[in-house]
Amino acid sequence: MSSSHAADTLQTPVQYLRGVGPRRAEELAAADVRTVEDLLLTLPYRYEDRARLQPIGDLRPGQVTSVSGAVLSCGLRATRRPGFRIFEMLLQDESGRVRVTFLNQAFLKDVFKAQQRVVLHGKVDRRPTGGLQITNPDYEIVSDEHDRDNDGGGLIHSGRIVPVYEKIASLTPKSLRRVVHDALQRLPAKVEDSLPDTVRRELDVPSRRQAFADAHFPPPGTSVEALNQFRTPAQQGLIFEEFFFFQLGLLLRRREADTGVKPRRIVVDARIRQAARDILPFRLTGDQRNALRQIVDDLRSPRAMNRLLQGDVGSGKTIVALLAALVAMENGLQVAFMSPTEILAEQHYANVARVLSRSRFATTLLTGTLPAKTRREVGSRVANGAARLVVGTHALVQGEVRFRDLGLAIIDEQHRFGVVQRATLRDKGLDPDVLVMTATPIPRTLALTAYGDLDVSEIRERLPGREPVKTTVLSESRRARAHDAIRAELRAGRQAFVVYPLVEESEKLDLRAATQMAAELQAGVFRDARVGLVHGRVPTAERERTMTAFAAGTIDVLVATTVIEVGIDVANATIMVIEQAERFGLAQLHQLRGRVGRGATRSHCVLIHASRLSDAARARLRALADTTDGFEIAERDLELRGPGDFFGTRQSGVPLFRVGDLLRDHRLMEEARRTAAAWLAGPDATEPRLAPVRRTWARRFGLAGVA
Ligand code: ADP
Ligand code: MG
Repeated sequence: MSSSHAADTLQTPVQYLRGVGPRRAEELAAADVRTVEDLLLTLPYRYEDRARLQPIGDLRPGQVTSVSGAVLSCGLRATRRPGFRIFEMLLQDESGRVRVTFLNQAFLKDVFKAQQRVVLHGKVDRRPTGGLQITNPDYEIVSDEHDRDNDGGGLIHSGRIVPVYEKIASLTPKSLRRVVHDALQRLPAKVEDSLPDTVRRELDVPSRRQAFADAHFPPPGTSVEALNQFRTPAQQGLIFEEFFFFQLGLLLRRREADTGVKPRRIVVDARIRQAARDILPFRLTGDQRNALRQIVDDLRSPRAMNRLLQGDVGSGKTIVALLAALVAMENGLQVAFMSPTEILAEQHYANVARVLSRSRFATTLLTGTLPAKTRREVGSRVANGAARLVVGTHALVQGEVRFRDLGLAIIDEQHRFGVVQRATLRDKGLDPDVLVMTATPIPRTLALTAYGDLDVSEIRERLPGREPVKTTVLSESRRARAHDAIRAELRAGRQAFVVYPLVEESEKLDLRAATQMAAELQAGVFRDARVGLVHGRVPTAERERTMTAFAAGTIDVLVATTVIEVGIDVANATIMVIEQAERFGLAQLHQLRGRVGRGATRSHCVLIHASRLSDAARARLRALADTTDGFEIAERDLELRGPGDFFGTRQSGVPLFRVGDLLRDHRLMEEARRTAAAWLAGPDATEPRLAPVRRTWARRFGLAGVA
């Protein structure tokens, strides 16, 4: 493997490394480590400073430290427990002696011999019989060829800053250390750098070869603290490289989705500003104004908009979207306003029509529940351009409906729409500006990552006069208090939700629990009220009937599984009781809670949990009771669960990074995005240079559609 082809070296299967046979190669492959490059991109998760060897005479109980010395004597000792043997040795340096004990590692009798020089790293304890001992230390026999670093004559496992790897199947941190060391030894002097040279120079990123070497076996004098925070130039360089290619791929994907110049020009003049003021019944908050400005700038730009507007339920996104819609309509364009469900579309329609009644534009509803004849009529008004703002479900742009001049598509609660549906739109000869709204905010870094091909606007400010929902956490033994609270709201003429979790694995049980509970509540504590039930197995028509009845106030208590999550808007519902709240994720609980607190009256949310609660579940419920800010909750959620779980794994389109960590390294991600955008706009981003980027992207993130 003395090949001078650096790229080949990195793509060499790990099996050819010393200490990796077919079995270990398989174990590594299962952890996605197949090549030398994969291995070198598997960074230690922490580093230990074993550089300073402590004189044995200075050892103190409780210390974790490294010592070096000569083996005076060693051997196996039986214990009273049958089959349990202890390997002991006496180690000596100029300053003193210490006993070293290895529990149940009889094979060591063939490893150590008297007179050997060894280096140990481990914890110092007091012996029951007096004196000190080091138990089960990492050890290294200094004369052993394998464990010598040929470059510096140093050691691999001690006497230096030592990398500590996550165990991979049967490969212990120690064996990984050896394998990685071997891989580094075999690297040729020059390894091809994947970052463009200009970028590398400008940001002072070490060469890849250097970064691999220093990130695994840091040179003497490196700050261990910096290493453990992954802040050394070597680590940051590798992380940056990963993020840079990721962002570059996103930008390429986005550029390729871009059609270039829009077939329309949108202007905003004094007349249009006045029209906007005319429909506005209140003053926009600062965040609303900023978001609107960003959106209108996009509308006026020659490139099609692809923007995500994030903000909690009730934070005032809709009015911002409607003002944007007004601008489009005043410019002679049509607008589609789409919701995930028909019932939501109907609610939006009522709301939108009310706001726009002060404008010169009528609002049109187009859903599958309309009679066929009406639907045909509406369809032709959409096609001839008479209908300007059309509210419906996603079927609006996916089905048979033809728009004459669709300029803006507003999409509620459908994160991925922006990316996925552009193609559908284009197939229909449409290329509108797209505004996606979501009430499931995600931290900004993740937004850059998960939706890197969308621009992001945020509304975080609370609307004036809005009271946050008061949230209480109750053990199930005190459920009666929750029911009392519901009865109090019902007496005041309000309505309530009772929510049950629905977990796929136990779906049948859960449904039975919800159904049974609805019946019990109706017959018991709420016998004077009207109790309704909805869950996923209730046929759509019946479900919508129940939801509509609840919205109309003819049902007082709605027992539901999480189907209500995306949400209906019933301002008169002022209390929500969530059963088995510990079974929900934080973001989901927050979403559910957003169904109350939509009117001027103070609303309540009661989280009922099993009497025994894990620490993690307790932390979730606590977080929810502490704050109603969806962004803060999203950040807590991310911290509690990590990015993988946060998005519910890969299907969400969020890649799992190998060296980078979205939480720890979010600044680098932002820098990577800026740098990638600048590089892509520069003269170096030629097709021959982009080809490897596409290949790297495809290999690393496995996402199709960038080619
Ligand atoms: P979202 O779409 O983010 O869920 P909405 O746009 O439906 O929120 O706003 C919730 C309610 O607050 C609506 O009744 C809306 O008219 C009202 N609202 C929005 N912005 C303001 C504001 N700046 N001041 C007062 N009320 C507002
Ligand atoms: Mg809304």
